[in-house]
Amino acid sequence: MANAKKTLICLLICMMVPFMFGVTCRAENPFLQSFEKRREHMVRTQIEARGITDKKILKALRKVERHKFVPKEYQLQAYGDYPLPIGEGQTISQPYIVALMTEVLDLDSSKKVLEVGTGSGYQAAILAEICESVCTIELIGVLGEKAKNLLADLGYENINVKIGDGYQGWKEYGPFDAIIVTCAPSHIPQPLQDQLAEGGKMVIPVGKKFTQELVLLTKQKGKIKKKDIIPVRFVPMMGKDGKAY
Ligand code: SAH
Repeated sequence: MANAKKTLICLLICMMVPFMFGVTCRAENPFLQSFEKRREHMVRTQIEARGITDKKILKALRKVERHKFVPKEYQLQAYGDYPLPIGEGQTISQPYIVALMTEVLDLDSSKKVLEVGTGSGYQAAILAEICESVCTIELIGVLGEKAKNLLADLGYENINVKIGDGYQGWKEYGPFDAIIVTCAPSHIPQPLQDQLAEGGKMVIPVGKKFTQELVLLTKQKGKIKKKDIIPVRFVPMMGKDGKAY
């Protein structure tokens, strides 16, 4: 009888453990939380913890629903500390890199920005939350169209998406106060340097296929000043002929 009682108690405890564990995990494990909580966790642990302090950027990262910019099968990983595939062999950048590239450009609501490499449209949405207007160029038609539709559905009226080769920039809308390049050429494209306004800033990964340096360029009195930021790994900037620049 005593043994039967013990077995019953053991059984009850065994049944309760997974439940109790699940409850405590839910509070701490971002994978079991709502997208909003995951976003907050992302901003605190990946962005603020690494020293990004610009309130406009933190606000934009807390607002823009990153999970809407990734394919359905990756939605649960959308707030992870890494890049993710977005189709066509391309990737959405790690959240910290999005924040860092945005911060070094020193943006505010008076600025006109050009992005080369629309991809999912996430970086463009972050920029549009902060700046007056965003022009963004994507080489791959399928990705550009998808981003254009999503950004329109989300109500962004200050973003212009063009399908084309961003190496050439977008002369009709230039000069730009800031240029952000999210694919990597082997050298800094001259048309982009020309389309940068006086006092403007450009952030761009430059280098070989698998290793590049993120570089910040500033135009002062018509001259370009260059500063290295950190080593990075972006997808290559391609031409319409399928060759990497
Ligand atoms: N900023 C994006 C991530 C971009 S990934 C986001 O927030 O999701 C880099 C993108 O650059 C890819 O979509 C790739 O197709 C695009 N790309 C490559 N070469 C390009 C070029 N010459 N002009 C415009 N886009 C280019």
